Amino acid sequence: MKTAKTILIIDDSQQIHHLVKARLKGLSVEISSADNGETGLEMAREAMPDLILLDVNMPGVSGFDVCRELKNSSQTHDIPVIFLTGEDETVNKVKGFDLGAVDYVTKPFDPAELRARVRAALKTKDLMDMLTTQAQIDGLTGLHNRGYFDQRFDQELSEGRRYNRSLGLLLVDVDHFKSVNDTFGHPKGDEVLSKVASVLSTSGRASDVTCRYGGEEFAVILPEASADLTYQSGLRMLEQIRQCQDFVAILGRPVTVSIGTACAMPDQQITAAAMIQHADQALYSAKESGRNRVAAA
Ligand code: GH3
Ligand code: MG
Ligand code: MG
Repeated sequence: MKTAKTILIIDDSQQIHHLVKARLKGLSVEISSADNGETGLEMAREAMPDLILLDVNMPGVSGFDVCRELKNSSQTHDIPVIFLTGEDETVNKVKGFDLGAVDYVTKPFDPAELRARVRAALKTKDLMDMLTTQAQIDGLTGLHNRGYFDQRFDQELSEGRRYNRSLGLLLVDVDHFKSVNDTFGHPKGDEVLSKVASVLSTSGRASDVTCRYGGEEFAVILPEASADLTYQSGLRMLEQIRQCQDFVAILGRPVTVSIGTACAMPDQQITAAAMIQHADQALYSAKESGRNRVAAA
């Protein structure tokens, strides 16, 4: 987690860099600067700043071009941009908003105004980040939800391909869960699901991504895991659920799960949908052959 907020200034004038830095002294922000559009774009992608102060008129790639590029990429789309415009550039101000900028500041800067606009933009960014995080969390278990899983799994698959790494996937389904609800009631069922979630998320490696896939089904993404490691992880989780005494305390008996595993090798051009289907088929065969077991695709 980043502590101080980070701001990137993209402006061809060194004087502006110095001026902005001086004016923003006192706000707890880290400021980096680029003196042309191309470098600015690179730095934005690399450092993912919390805010970009962007000059409109630069030789080469203009500020408008930079803003368009930033807003067109899903990676940098959410970084707020404040345009730095000349005094009588009304047309540019309007165009800047049309391109997705959140605000503009007119040169020469009024120090109080610059600080106020920067603070406001950072605050809004903070709230947006919080909302995004909230929207990706499952309310009952506190795990990542299905929406997050879909996005993250795609991302891990393409990164695996790019960096020549394998990727493991587990689909975990609670056995005979309907009977838990039927016998003990929905609230106890909820309690069991929360406990399953906490066992799954603590039994893997720190880099594993545990998600609630839906209902009483969970998905675990295992970055850089071979087929064997994926299977072994499945076995370990199965065992930890089976032996967890908290379930005995809640229901008077243990809980078991069935797990389907799949693994993508880096040279495989497998899609996310196909890999999920493989894990799902493996899960189905684990269920068919008696539940409380792991099956590999
Ligand atoms: P199987 O071993 O074949 O997986 O059987 P099952 O009973 O676990 O599977 P089934 O799909 O028939 O039932 C899943 C149940 O999970 C049905 C649904 O009511 C319950 N369920 C889904 N989401 C929740 C939830 O958030 N809380 C509770 N308490 N129950 C839920
Ligand atoms: Mg199910
Ligand atoms: Mg089930």
